[in-house]
Amino acid sequence: MNTTKKLFAAAVCMVLLGAVFMVYQHSRISAGTRTAGTDNMPEAQAYRGEADEQFHDTDSILVVANKKHALPSGYEPADLVRPKVEMLNECFIRSLAADALERMFAAAEADGVHLVLGSGYRAETLQRQLYEKYAAQYGQEAADSFSSRPGYSDHQTGLAVDISDHDARTYLTEEFENTPEGQWLIQHAYEYGFILRYPRGKEEITGYTYEPWHYRFVGKEAAAEIFNSGSWYAMEEYCDVEGGTYVD
Ligand SMILES: [Zn+2]
Repeated sequence: MNTTKKLFAAAVCMVLLGAVFMVYQHSRISAGTRTAGTDNMPEAQAYRGEADEQFHDTDSILVVANKKHALPSGYEPADLVRPKVEMLNECFIRSLAADALERMFAAAEADGVHLVLGSGYRAETLQRQLYEKYAAQYGQEAADSFSSRPGYSDHQTGLAVDISDHDARTYLTEEFENTPEGQWLIQHAYEYGFILRYPRGKEEITGYTYEPWHYRFVGKEAAAEIFNSGSWYAMEEYCDVEGGTYVD
């Protein structure tokens, strides 16, 4: 081949590679962000039919970790970042959730409400230490009621956060729901793609008692549906995934 032909062949290869890459990226993006339509039942049902493919997929923002579904052993998200918000202690979450969290905290601030981040990603090894400490201290049954077993924690997804009031007076207590911070979150978190992960009255479905401080990033469209005009669905109901307590 002469030089012109070689250059032409190289250009054709580049275009083909580019096209393959674009298709690949598109399929990745739709896998990560696909959510149901708003009030459109056929779409919502179609989504739920595909849920099985997503809730085990750690690339999906709808990945579910609960007492029936563990994350892959040792799973650690690749894109953990330190969000630029006030924290009680050093926290990391996945980058796509960090952007949304920063916007949410700024919006609350603009409304005169000062949110503080208390906890984010928790590694399986740390969860193991916590759970074993609680189980030794209070017994397994009691430990299971307020701490996840290692591998089963929503915090290990890198998409969950515990949020505190400005002076941490009600942090990790039910009283948090009556603070301006708790009230603001329950009305506005969904607008930024976060859901109340363990709503009151859904204990049998989620496997956890009501936690007004624990929010989970699922993206705006899913969050709007799960918010359900303030009568929160459980994530398990939305994704049609089994929840409740451990098998053994
Ligand atoms: Zn939490």
